[in-house]
Amino acid sequence: MRIAKRISRLGTETAFDVLAKVNALKAQGKDIVSFSIGEPDFDTPAHIKEAAKEALDQNWTHYNPSNGLLEFRQAIAEDTMKMRPGFHCDADEVVVTPGAKPILFHGILSVVEEGSEVVYPNPGFPIYESMINFVGAKPVPMPLLEEKGFSIDIKDLERKVNKNTSLIIINSPQNPTGGILKEDDLRAIADLAKKYDCWVMSDEVYNRMVWEGEFRSIAQLPGMKERTIIVDGCSKTYAMTGWRIGWGVMPKDLAPVISRLITNSDSCTSTFSQRASIKALRGPTEPVNKMVEEFRARRRLIVDLLNDIEGVRCLEPGGAFYVFPNVTGACRKLGLASSKELADYLLYEAGVAVLGRNCFGRKNDGEDQEYIRLSYATSQKQIKEGLARMKKAIEKPARK
Ligand code: PMP
Repeated sequence: MRIAKRISRLGTETAFDVLAKVNALKAQGKDIVSFSIGEPDFDTPAHIKEAAKEALDQNWTHYNPSNGLLEFRQAIAEDTMKMRPGFHCDADEVVVTPGAKPILFHGILSVVEEGSEVVYPNPGFPIYESMINFVGAKPVPMPLLEEKGFSIDIKDLERKVNKNTSLIIINSPQNPTGGILKEDDLRAIADLAKKYDCWVMSDEVYNRMVWEGEFRSIAQLPGMKERTIIVDGCSKTYAMTGWRIGWGVMPKDLAPVISRLITNSDSCTSTFSQRASIKALRGPTEPVNKMVEEFRARRRLIVDLLNDIEGVRCLEPGGAFYVFPNVTGACRKLGLASSKELADYLLYEAGVAVLGRNCFGRKNDGEDQEYIRLSYATSQKQIKEGLARMKKAIEKPARK
């Protein structure tokens, strides 16, 4: 079979491989506590589901414009401004897509020239690096450092951004570390982007899940609106991963470019999903607040339980629903060479699914510590059970 060469440059999300392993074990009747999946365990709030049913009955079942329904784009513009005081946008600057991922895909296709350089967070969401390679650009990893609360070293970033940089990708709150880029970091990134005239793609899908202080977007800073693509969507905020609703907020001239890519690839985003999402954005905020408060309580629980395991050290994450504990001590104690081996050990020996550091990019130069990611989008009962199993498996006396 002949497959086009460009496909060899496309990466993937290896988290899905772990999911397949978990499902295979479950199918054999094994009891697995899973911390591997990056989606809320809650069901979509009832009023949003009702709105979808109504939309179906009203026959919102036809094509709609490639950039999305006007009323939905208006609701998105309102929501974007509400969450980012001082930032102004209107419906023409919004493009709706089937989930947030297509904005990453189409955005990178649209603004990154072949041969240029793209700076992206590492460890990070693996699709960034995959897409950078796919379009024939050079991936330049920006290390996120545990000692900085999984933020960046500005001096290091200054060495990485230059006149060949076409795009800087940031993600705050961040997957997989739960880290947040503080105001000073955002300012320093903005200054570099302006100095070298490059684009910024700001993946803000976890903007509702900030555990201390307020959410801040780089797009709020002076001179950034014209060079920033905000990536956002309904998946995480409203527990709507399967509805496939995301969007980008971008300069007016870029929006038709992304729309044209959608006309060529998807035609448009599901019409009744968009109608229901208007209700998500404009409807009661109670269900979202409840989910967020539950995540906050789980975060407390999981951080405390992790820090109670010998050989594990876990920072308080600033946002999102992930923790990224340092497990170097645990790996050494068990004679395991990497976090991937630890993840396999925990899955097969303890029935606990976590993701190794390797699922989020290659190690940075000089990175000698081991990390795993746990998603706490699971019940407190499961967290207690899973962490008890991990403690037992990690602390048991080393095998002779
Ligand atoms: N960005 C980040 C940082 C994510 O973690 C995810 C989902 N795991 C996405 C984008 C994709 O979101 P969606 O499912 O809406 O495409």
